[in-house]
Amino acid sequence: MPVHVLHANELKEKYVLTRNLPTIWCAGCGIGTVLGAAVRAIDGLGLDKKDVVFTIGIGCSGYSSRYVNFDAAHTTHGRALTTATGLKLANPKLTVITLTGDGDCVGIGGNHFIHAARRNIDVTAILFNNSIYGMTGGQYSPATPTGALSTTSPYGMVEGTIDPCELARAAGATYIARSTTYHVQLLRQLIAKAITHKGFSLVEAIAQCPNQFGRLNKIGAAPEMMRQYKREAVRVDSLDAEVPPGKIKIGELYKADRPEYTKMYAKVREEAKRRAAARGQ
Ligand code: SF4
Repeated sequence: MPVHVLHANELKEKYVLTRNLPTIWCAGCGIGTVLGAAVRAIDGLGLDKKDVVFTIGIGCSGYSSRYVNFDAAHTTHGRALTTATGLKLANPKLTVITLTGDGDCVGIGGNHFIHAARRNIDVTAILFNNSIYGMTGGQYSPATPTGALSTTSPYGMVEGTIDPCELARAAGATYIARSTTYHVQLLRQLIAKAITHKGFSLVEAIAQCPNQFGRLNKIGAAPEMMRQYKREAVRVDSLDAEVPPGKIKIGELYKADRPEYTKMYAKVREEAKRRAAARGQ
């Protein structure tokens, strides 16, 4: 069946809460690009808005719920995936998508990220990775590259850097992909695949924060940051692909098939009901 691709104005009318525009985001911020790719992916899949719920963390990307017309829970810091887990268990028919930043996801909410992946719950996490805590003042996050400048690492960040995709694989996620705001069509396609995947899926979206990361590291404004993504990104089809140092692997990086949590949990419920009935309860 031919899919009607909506024009930008039709998309805006259908999905954007225009009463809240203009957005709070700085000029050139990459968050809107990632959010736009997510909305286009949802629209392309033909999902009914009523069946889609966002859970959203804290940080600049947390403002997303102000601008898109979906049911959404703006949660406490790092807890967007716990809310997503509860929603999905309560109503497995929902498409549950978590929007989270790098500080929110692999910093403050790192433990919840690990356990959502370990359970393989059918939730899609879209991780806006701008390598910094943008909203709270430019502090380094666990995803800040070693050596990079931030307001809390004025001489260069000396800690190791978490690769969210590697962490997700180690924890048990079954779909892992990465793209950048420069490679926005790929980003949209990967988000669509992640949403249709049955199990925990992560799409890491490398997104520019020109106001904090770009400025502090003297990379320049958004166009320079996106040109850097263009230069550094290498399209691969595996997380284990060899790329030269300093390059970013983008593409569908990992896929596995493993039992999904809500289905396993449903069996536990059935067994509990059966035993309760046997006891006459
Ligand atoms: S501080 Fe950075 S991430 Fe936050 S809105 Fe501004 S550019 Fe975007």
